[in-house]
Amino acid sequence: MSTPEPTYFAPPEVAHLDSILPSEPLLLMGAGPVPIPNAVARANGVVINHLGETMERVVVELKRMAGYAFQTRSDKILGVAGPASAAMEMAVSNLLWRGRRALCLKTGTFSGRLGEMAVGVGADVTILETETGKPITADAVRRALARGPYDVVTLVQGETSCGVLNGELPEIARVAREHGALTVVDAVVTVSTMPLEMDRWDLDAVVTGGQKGLSSIPGVSLVAFSDRAWETVAGRREPRAHWCLDAVRAQRFWGQHQYHYTAPVPGILALYEALRLVCEEGLAARHERHRVSSLSLQAGLEAMGLGLFIPRETRLNSVIAVRVPGTVDARSVLSYMSRKFRVEISGSFGLDIVRIGQMGEQCRSHNLFKALYATGMSFRHFGVDLNVSEGLAALERALTSEQEFE
Ligand SMILES: *Cc1c(COP(=O)(O)O)cnc(C)c1O
Repeated sequence: MSTPEPTYFAPPEVAHLDSILPSEPLLLMGAGPVPIPNAVARANGVVINHLGETMERVVVELKRMAGYAFQTRSDKILGVAGPASAAMEMAVSNLLWRGRRALCLKTGTFSGRLGEMAVGVGADVTILETETGKPITADAVRRALARGPYDVVTLVQGETSCGVLNGELPEIARVAREHGALTVVDAVVTVSTMPLEMDRWDLDAVVTGGQKGLSSIPGVSLVAFSDRAWETVAGRREPRAHWCLDAVRAQRFWGQHQYHYTAPVPGILALYEALRLVCEEGLAARHERHRVSSLSLQAGLEAMGLGLFIPRETRLNSVIAVRVPGTVDARSVLSYMSRKFRVEISGSFGLDIVRIGQMGEQCRSHNLFKALYATGMSFRHFGVDLNVSEGLAALERALTSEQEFE
């Protein structure tokens, strides 16, 4: 008997993508993704053989640049086809499994996610949670570790969900080291936006994504393991639950240029260009650009009459959490801002804040003025009494009193 004639149902009628996308790209000033430079966009349009000699050279150079961005000499730097969360999962699932113990420091959604992942791989997990908006202190970690023992400590450097900075990260890492525990650090918003020194601070697994500080596209992320962490990864006898996220298998591609899975070629090329721009600018200059940009924007927001959620001493500069005044509905404000001003900022995961990003290309003066104006005018549209021109003047004053940057 022959195969019956196929009877396909009709294809759906859909709009051409051009008619769905805004005619002019919206300015992405939220907590990520962020605008990408042209060099990154161009690289993202290229597909090459993922196992050829060209790719080998790309990977070798990309790892050297990533090592600079992370400030590590380790050669165990692996790319991941996936969001930053996949890179977090690679770090967690390769260092934790049933029978291993983790202390997870929770300052919000993202550090909490590391804890969820640790639970997911069957580790014995203790969560140490701070009050909302408060950073974790080395003292609190010391006390918690005293009730140990723990194999791994997980934390975030910059907690994007509420805008708090874990400024005591170097000391927390030292405390963990003294205890004999490995540290897993989510540096998704902090790599290349503020100081982070993987080797000098003795961090064991550091994770970042493409679409935040690096100003690349979402979908390709990075993990760096210290030599000490790699001993744990490579020495593991237990079966590995994750196949794609298995660091030993991934090292075949990232270390030996052999097949693991088909690498996300355009995303890797885009990341290459993003990292090249980081190297070209230099970390010191790049951090200074981010610092001046964020502090100036903060000054503008406050001068306008908006309140910032986190006190200055513990405030993360990479993502600024702004209090939503009164009974205003933040979602309506954001949607109005997007339609009227073509500027997008982020809402929140349950807190009464909106969040403005200060990562990579977001930290350019023309973007700051546009974002500040749009934010002020949109809140005003919903009845909040704000002095928008005073805010813009304060931004201008802050930018020009600090050193020049474009
Ligand atoms: C955005 C973000 C993540 C998650 O990134 P995805 O790419 O959405 O998985 C994790 N941690 C921090 C601190 C972030 O800001």
